[in-house]
Amino acid sequence: MLKNQVDFKKKGTVFNIQRFSVNDGPGIRTIVFLKGCPLSCSWCSNPESQNRNKELLFNVKNCTACHKCETMCKMDAINFNLDNRIDKDKCVNCGECVESCYPGALVISGEEMSVKEILDELNKDSVQFRHSNGGVTLSGGEPLLQEEFALELLKGCKTMGFHTTIETTGYINRKIVEEIVPWVDLVLLDIKTMDEEKHLKYIGASNKRILENAKRISDLGINTIVRVPVIPEFNCDKESIYNIAEFTKALGNVKEIHLLPYHKFGLNKYECLGRKYNVNDNIKTPSEDVMLELKKIVEDIGLKCNVGSH
Ligand code: SF4
Ligand code: SF4
Repeated sequence: MLKNQVDFKKKGTVFNIQRFSVNDGPGIRTIVFLKGCPLSCSWCSNPESQNRNKELLFNVKNCTACHKCETMCKMDAINFNLDNRIDKDKCVNCGECVESCYPGALVISGEEMSVKEILDELNKDSVQFRHSNGGVTLSGGEPLLQEEFALELLKGCKTMGFHTTIETTGYINRKIVEEIVPWVDLVLLDIKTMDEEKHLKYIGASNKRILENAKRISDLGINTIVRVPVIPEFNCDKESIYNIAEFTKALGNVKEIHLLPYHKFGLNKYECLGRKYNVNDNIKTPSEDVMLELKKIVEDIGLKCNVGSH
């Protein structure tokens, strides 16, 4: 296949297609969420994104205890004595119990979709993309973990004339950074802390590769905005934000930082996955005053700064 040709049959695992977003790139956007992430931030609001494979979620609030799922499961993986109901060691995420669950207490996160199937979905939004100067955003997880699929999808979007944005952790292969250049209009790059030890402790990986890729992306001249999730007791202080802003300025081509205050919107998903949320209960969303103080630090360094949401 030629470099510019799109492999429309290429398949990947997607866990959501979200329309009418205004926070993830210019205009009104449709976000395609790809499954899988190499990092494990303790505050992650999309924990269902982390596993590359399909995953069964159980929401006890919707369950009417009809026991239909139990009779459907050939793996004997439904156990009413377990808090989360699903025996993870036995469940193969086949989704057969989901079919029988009319109240929607069981849901499979993750669907195999081809580039063509996704482009057909995106095409339904083309008028609003045009009218709002919006487009498509690939998110995750880490969308570039499914490297080949993400690349074909970006190429497909460009052949349709859509503005393309990727939200990335930066924890990606060097090669993919160079390959996506012609197909990406905007990169939203997460930088969470300059402190490698903290990065290892709270995120499960060193920040070295991320910072190297930040330099690479900047040198390639891709339009980039650095995004910082602002997390109390992690990086919600003047020094942490100053260090990120200094680094960003030194990159040369990146002129803007978005500060995204911590929130707890994903909490319920941890319960549905039968996982523990590892952020202290006493940690709250930073106040507007705190966010404005941090914003001023970035602006004083000479960068544009927005306080946004994520
Ligand atoms: S997804 Fe499949 S294996 Fe898992 S509980 Fe449901 S029916 Fe059983
Ligand atoms: S089928 Fe759904 S509603 Fe019925 S017991 Fe199973 S999870 Fe609960």
